[in-house]
Amino acid sequence: MSNKNIIVAIDGYSSCGKSTVAKALAKELHYVYVDSGAMYRAVTLYFLRNNIDITNIGVVDQALEDIHLDSHKEAGVTKIFLNGEDVSEEIRQMHVSENVSAVSAIRNVRKALVKQQQKMGSRKNLVMDGRDIGTTVFPHAQVKIFMTADPKVRAERRFLELTSKGEKITLEEVFENIAHRDYQDTTREESPLIRADDAVILDNTNMNEEEQLQFVLGEVEKVHA
Ligand code: C5P
Repeated sequence: MSNKNIIVAIDGYSSCGKSTVAKALAKELHYVYVDSGAMYRAVTLYFLRNNIDITNIGVVDQALEDIHLDSHKEAGVTKIFLNGEDVSEEIRQMHVSENVSAVSAIRNVRKALVKQQQKMGSRKNLVMDGRDIGTTVFPHAQVKIFMTADPKVRAERRFLELTSKGEKITLEEVFENIAHRDYQDTTREESPLIRADDAVILDNTNMNEEEQLQFVLGEVEKVHA
């Protein structure tokens, strides 16, 4: 089961808990986990720090050449590095969340990151979460999950996560950011967030983490049935 080059693609709306279920699944199956959203966030952070004009394609292309992303585990936690610097915490902050959908809508940004993501899946058992994994990055993934949940429940979960890290923010601001990202992600021209025809829907509004893990494990089991 562990050497079959299985790819599990988990897509869905913002703050649905995709990474929580993806990480748990990867741990259970000893697969590699890749958080594609973290890659878009790290690129966004670089653009913000360097005042990149996203309307200038030449400047964007140069910036993409200057960005080197790397990800590996440290003490059991998956970290993301932007040109060697651990940015795992900073990419979760609101200033990045507020700009990431605009950056990820840029065609050349997507091209560059999709290429890297496809390379990661070439010879490994992998769980990757994002918005276009089952449709664009790995259209032939053996397991495709499309996650959704009530937007209010999603906002409450993300609000608790951010405030527990000390971020000063209101529930309304979190709700608006999620609604805005959902809108931008589903309406953009370049690989919008859409359920792949063969993706199984997982609505976790009323599910705990263990129930979600069992659900996706069940889908992986079907591949080998
Ligand atoms: O998954 P996360 O919420 O961290 O992703 C941040 C943003 O990155 C999303 O709102 C979306 O705009 C973008 N994204 C994307 N394609 C992916 C993963 C993330 O466009 N595969």
